[in-house]
Amino acid sequence: MPTASVTVPVRPFAWRDGAWWRARAEDLGTLWRRSLRFRIVAITLALTALTIIIACVWMALAIQNDLFESRKTQALTDARRAVDSAQATLNNAVVQDDPVQVQNLLTSIQGPLSQQSTTDMTLAVRIDTTPSQLAPPGFRSGGLEESMISPELRKHVRDQGGDEKQWAQSIALPGPGGTPLPGLVVGQQIIVPDIGPYELYLAYDLDDAATTLSFVQVTLWIVGSALVVLIGAIAWFTLRAVTTPIREAAETSAQLAAGDLGVRLTVHGEDELATLGRSFNAMADSIQSQINQLAELSLVQQRFVSDVSHELRTPLTTIRLASDMLNDRRDEFDPATARAAELMHAQVQRFEVLLGDLLEISRYDAGSVQLELEPTSLARLAEDVIVSMQQLAEQHGSDVRLVAPGGYSPVDMDPRRIRRIVRNLLGNAIEHGEGKPIVITVDSNQQAVALGVRDYGLGMTEADAERVFDRFWRADPSRRRTIGGTGLGLSIALGDATLHRGALTVWSRPGHGSNFVLTLPRGPAPVEPGSPIPTDPDDDASLDDLGLTQPIALHDLPDGGAR
Ligand code: ADP
Repeated sequence: MPTASVTVPVRPFAWRDGAWWRARAEDLGTLWRRSLRFRIVAITLALTALTIIIACVWMALAIQNDLFESRKTQALTDARRAVDSAQATLNNAVVQDDPVQVQNLLTSIQGPLSQQSTTDMTLAVRIDTTPSQLAPPGFRSGGLEESMISPELRKHVRDQGGDEKQWAQSIALPGPGGTPLPGLVVGQQIIVPDIGPYELYLAYDLDDAATTLSFVQVTLWIVGSALVVLIGAIAWFTLRAVTTPIREAAETSAQLAAGDLGVRLTVHGEDELATLGRSFNAMADSIQSQINQLAELSLVQQRFVSDVSHELRTPLTTIRLASDMLNDRRDEFDPATARAAELMHAQVQRFEVLLGDLLEISRYDAGSVQLELEPTSLARLAEDVIVSMQQLAEQHGSDVRLVAPGGYSPVDMDPRRIRRIVRNLLGNAIEHGEGKPIVITVDSNQQAVALGVRDYGLGMTEADAERVFDRFWRADPSRRRTIGGTGLGLSIALGDATLHRGALTVWSRPGHGSNFVLTLPRGPAPVEPGSPIPTDPDDDASLDDLGLTQPIALHDLPDGGAR
């Protein structure tokens, strides 16, 4: 039976992955930027570790040097004493040119040498290399070999060791199992009567000193590392005492900035942080009371505007009736009185519009506006508004075109308010469009429906466009006005759009016209960025695709959708 073999791809361990390391490095970078505590602890640790490393290395070297020097002095003294004693023995001996006696004499100092000194590793080598029957070659004990002595040391001893000079050098001694042990060899000359000088070496085992040294060094490093960890921990806990209140203060001020004016810091003790906390709370108290005062003042103002508007309505209705009557009968008056009646009629009408707008604004301020939602086709609504304002557009010489690739299917909205927005936008476009064509675009996507009003007239600077939704604001009060605006139209339009959880945005350039885009969400969720119609017309390639250079008549518009 054939057997199937499956090859499982071997994934490299996650920690070997370059991406994994990059992600960790980014995490550390973020922590470094965001956490003061992490940064200070890391810097403290790095500096402490550096200081402790330098101190430990310095101490280890100093101890090592000191230990070596003291052992060296000890070895030199020890060797001097032993060699002096051996030399005295040799000087007192009498040898009768007998090789055996000479050999015996040399052998006889070997034992006392080891006894007088603290080492049994000795080596004696005859300096004069001329063969002699009488002179023995030397002796060795304790495993010290000629080959172990460096030629430099031997040269010093041989050439300059005449006047009892000593030389010392580090040496590797054979240890148990062949492991080399640290040692020190002391060399000097010894004179055998009738024969001449010998190099004499005594080797000292420094293993105990090395053990002491490594013990001291290990202890130093352990204490050093423990100190670094301890200092890091102390820095961490000390900083926590400082950063925790700072973090709390940051969080509380963020809450305060977000409008929660009642939040306060919990203050403990009387130190600097407690003083900071108390000052912060005092500041929050002051801000809260000032904002409350301003809110009350604003409420009083709103009520005043609302009350005055209501109060003005009754006398205005009477004035309006009177002005209507006078205007209707102006043919019966002399020309000057007729003109006055006409002017009064126009201004009373304007006054009425202003009063209506003021009442609407005060309703927004009081939060008493209720939407009356019903499924409405934005494209159909736009058609209605265009038809109703066609005459005005013609008076201004503007050709209003509608481009509606979408936006026919009904969406829940308050048609009265949306119609008011579109009327206002189209009215403004006609007013400031300088008789050039005006394009109204309606389109939709899955989330929203949108309507854009584009004119090619006066336009506004960027700074003006930013203020266009402010109450009573006009780009240039000296501009010729024919529809008689109050400067409240766009702020009411923005209020209506916001009530629908929608957006009203503007693009405008002096001499290139303006583009206002109203976007309404299909569902209850607020509208997201990315309207079906871009606010900046430079982003919109689709208008050219639609062949907008040709005027589009209303009867050309596609059918379908509900009104
Ligand atoms: P108004 O009643 O004065 O039209 P709005 O709030 O509707 O008040 O508009 C405020 C101001 O914004 C207008 O006075 C005008 O200066 C400017 N503005 C509005 N729409 C346009 C536009 N399409 N082109 C140029 N300026 C405009």
